[in-house]
Parts: sequence; structure tokens; C-alpha cells
Amino acid sequence: MSPLGARPLDEDVPVIDRRRAEAYLRAGLWREERIADLLREARLRHPDRLAVVSGTTRLTHGELHTAVTAAGRRLEGLGVRAGDRVVVQLPNRAEFVVLVLALLDIGAPPVLVLPGFGDYELGHVVRAARPVAIAVSAGGRAANPVESARRLRTEHEFLGHVLSLGDIGADDVDLAALCDPAGPWDGPVGPAVVSARPPRPSALTDAAVFLLSGGTTGPPKVIPRGDAGYAYMVRTACGIAGVSHDTVYLAVMPAAHGFVLNCPGVLGTLAQGGTVVLGDTTDPRQALAQIERERVTHCALVPTVAMQWLAAADRAAADLSSLRVLQTGGARPTPELARRIGPVLGATLQQCYGMSEGLLCYTALDDRETVIVETQGRPASPMDEVLIVDEHGRPVPDGGTGELLTRGPYTVAGYYRDPAATAKAFTPDGFYRTGDLATRTPGGALVVNGRVRDIINRGGEKIPAEDLEMAVARHPGVRASAAVGAPHELYGETVCLYVVPETGREPTLLELRRFLRGLGLAVWKLPERVEVVAQLPTTAIGKIDKKALRADLARRTALEA
Ligand code: AMP
Repeated sequence: MSPLGARPLDEDVPVIDRRRAEAYLRAGLWREERIADLLREARLRHPDRLAVVSGTTRLTHGELHTAVTAAGRRLEGLGVRAGDRVVVQLPNRAEFVVLVLALLDIGAPPVLVLPGFGDYELGHVVRAARPVAIAVSAGGRAANPVESARRLRTEHEFLGHVLSLGDIGADDVDLAALCDPAGPWDGPVGPAVVSARPPRPSALTDAAVFLLSGGTTGPPKVIPRGDAGYAYMVRTACGIAGVSHDTVYLAVMPAAHGFVLNCPGVLGTLAQGGTVVLGDTTDPRQALAQIERERVTHCALVPTVAMQWLAAADRAAADLSSLRVLQTGGARPTPELARRIGPVLGATLQQCYGMSEGLLCYTALDDRETVIVETQGRPASPMDEVLIVDEHGRPVPDGGTGELLTRGPYTVAGYYRDPAATAKAFTPDGFYRTGDLATRTPGGALVVNGRVRDIINRGGEKIPAEDLEMAVARHPGVRASAAVGAPHELYGETVCLYVVPETGREPTLLELRRFLRGLGLAVWKLPERVEVVAQLPTTAIGKIDKKALRADLARRTALEA
């Protein structure tokens, strides 16, 4: 039987159409392999090499394998089965790695939620993904995530377990114990030794992991990443970034984000038998010291953090000679910043542009300096298809700017159980509408120039304006509001909120921030500037004229300067 003959495990996952899938198989890009297989083979091949460093914890690949296998069996003992989803909202700690790898092993896709997401985002993801368990850690964001998870467990019957780090209630599962093969575990244990199981008929299109969208409007969408495409993408990224068994990859940004997890990131490094160092701060002094201490070779940063590191590296006495590759992504660095990274950090800059839905572009490590500094790279796969189109969906002439549409061997065909969002974000023939404006250089590299969609990019954190405006609308003192990006030296842009107040009320910035926090919005979505106006300008067809608001904001800022 063709490996594509079998029905996908979960019918709610939109799959790439059969003709294209067969072409990826024929071209040898897709293999009958799961990301879990790549990771397990590396653990078995390099048992004595260091795999994970987190605080005082140091695990070899052999020790990691023992922990992952034990955690997988314990999860099975708790009733977690192949195809079940488990939400993971954890900081960069060893337990994150052990849990994610164990879930991959037993075929229960982790749904990766950024630690900074608040109740609003978490609640939405839980309703959309219907997980059987949720893993959280005490501390981190202002509202206690463990409390939030317990509340969600009482609200949703499908949510059976709260796996908790640091604050373990009577009904919670102790996640540290679950991840520690030598630790006390009096819970049930599953029977299966995962690696001894016969392979399922088809692992190709089953979801391996679920990432969350950053580039769409509205609350985060759940993205089911098919196993064969995901494994192919991680394998390919390792080659492009020069990641091998002697790589030491430092993760300081949240490992739950695709850029850090799989570009090639934490998963790619582990799949090569390399070492992942988990940092919990982007603070330049501490991170640079960690690079020196662990002889870090690779790291991935958003441009705003890279900028802070450059300023600190100029003064730091840290020995950064081990650092070979610094990736930037999530937002576009200015050419000035990009130009300084190589000389100041002594590493090759690799620009990365991509999205949780799929497409990844990279500059090559041996590209000319102008390509590395001025472009966001080329698509990772020869079978990535990229179209640049005008507002009517027609291709723009070579060198022109338009919206970037893409499909390919590792770009998904839609969102999980969300046909309406899928229909909006994907064309009928399966191209994802990125919402990004881009230009292609004659050499085939892409330059990202802006966005079609109304999203504010605060140093790589995406804030859908509409989402924020809907939350603001619930404030009793607000009649109407519109969020626009205010240019910012460090973050690129921050949120400026234009507000039309109810008569007799004039909500202040502080009041609005408190109100939005109270609704559970992530901290980075909060406005940093409020402009109270009598009315919002509108376009000819009556839509709020954001262009006019941006121009107004520029005028106000110029007057203040
Ligand atoms: P996410 O799904 O969170 O990774 O967000 C994807 C979006 O981030 C893209 O659609 C872009 O809008 C933006 N993005 C990612 N990398 C870059 C980059 N190198 N330059 C400009 N924008 C980027």
C-alpha cells in the first residue's frame, strides 16, 4: 500500500493534497519517518555526548533517552494516547525537552504555547485543541499559570490532567517527577517500550506538533505540523545552519516558538546528537557569560535582543570565540544592525524569515555579505513555491513588491478544526497567504518589506490589531478604538491605541493596561501609548483609516522630538 493510502490519524487535520504529497515522496524529501525517529536514533547513537544543559542539570543523550522513555510510559499510564493533544506552556527547562520528546515518542502532539501567553490566549488554545492534559509551571507571567490550568480543567471535561512544575496540588501530576526516571513515581505506567512498537501504517501526515500562528489576525490559530514535512524541514535546516553533533545551541528565547524549536533549533540540534543549553534570560550579560562557559556555537535571536547583545558585547570581557552562527528572525533587522553582528560577535549572521505555518527562508552561511545583510534569505526547500502577488492575486512583475503566498513540503494546508480561518488564510489551491509584503531579488532571495495584514510586530512578538481592539471595546469608557504600530528604536514598533471615549470618560493608559491585563492578555500586547480622539478617521468605504492614524502619530511624534 502507498504510504499515503492510510487515513490520517486525526481527520480534523487538513492534509496536503495527494498529488503534491506523492511528488514530495518521489523527490525523496518526505520519507517514512517521524521527527520522533530522528530524535530517538540520535539519542541511541550518541549516548555519551552531552544533550541538555539547564541550570545545574546536565543530561547526556543516553540519560535523556532514559528520561524520555520513562516519561512516555508514565504519560501512557495517565491515559495519554497517540493522537491526543497535550498543551505545553513551560519555560526553557529540562522538563520542557523531556516532556516534548516523550510526547513525540508516543505520538501525542504537544501544543506549544509561549510562556508569556495569558489566560485569554491559553483559554482560546485549549478550546481549539481540546487537549487531554496541560503542562504548566508556577511563576513566569503575572497570573499563576497553574491556577489558570486548574480552572480550565474544571471548565472542560476533556482536560484530564494538569502537569505542574513548582506548585503541585492534590489533583495535579508532579511534572518534575514524571520527567525524572529515578524520581518517585507512584502513578501508573504504560506497557509500551516505544521504540519496540511496529511503525504505524502512515506517519506522513499525522500531526507531530502543534504550533501557534503569529501572523494571522484574531486569537492564535492552532497549526498541525505533519510529521514527514516537519522531519524533512528540521533535517534540511540542520544542513543550512551547519548544525552537527558538535553544535552547542543556546536557547534563550522561548523554546516553544518555532524559530527556537525547529529552525533547526532545539530539535535539530538534538537530532544531530548536539548539545542544547537552555537559558531563561535574554539578559546580555548573563547570556554572553553562558556562551563563554558552555562554548556555545549557535544561537537564535530576534533583532531587538541582538541589538542589546551587540551593545553589551562591545563592553563585555566574555570570550565569545566559540560562537559560529547567530541567527536572527521573527522580524527584520536593519542592515546597520545586520552589518555589525559579524564583526562584534565574531559569528556569521544567518537571517531567517518564516512562519509557524511553514515556509522558512535562510541566508546561506557562505552568502556574499550584501545578501546576508540586506535579505531575509532563500526558501529552504527546492520544492517550496513562492508567489508574490498584487491585491487581486495576480503575480507582480519581477522585482516588484506584493503579498507573499507559499506552499510546499512542510507548509501546512490549514488550521486545526478551523475551516473558516483556513478558508481565509489559504487559497483554494493550497497557498498560505502570509500577509507579508516581499520582493524577490534577481538572485532569488526575499526581502520582507512590511505587512498586508494589520499586525503590530513588537520585536518579534506579533499583536493582531483587531484582537486587541476587540478586547479594548469591552472597557466601559471606550466607544471605539484602533491600534497602530508606533515606531520604536529598540522594538521596531510598539502599540499605540487611538481611543474615542464614552461621554464624560477618558480612560488613561494605565487604566487601559490594567484592564487588558485583567482580561488575561499577554503583557507584550498592552498599549504603550494612548491618544484620545473625538473620532477615528475612515476610508472611502468606511473602514478605519489606519494610514491616516499612522500619519497622525508620526506628526505627533515629530512635534514631541
Ligand atoms: P510566527 O508564526 O510567530 O513565526 O510569525 C511569522 C511572521 O513573523 C511572518 O509572517 C512575518 O510577518 C514575521 N517574520 C518572521 N521572520 C521575519 C523576518 N526575518 N523579517 C520580517 N518579518 C519576519
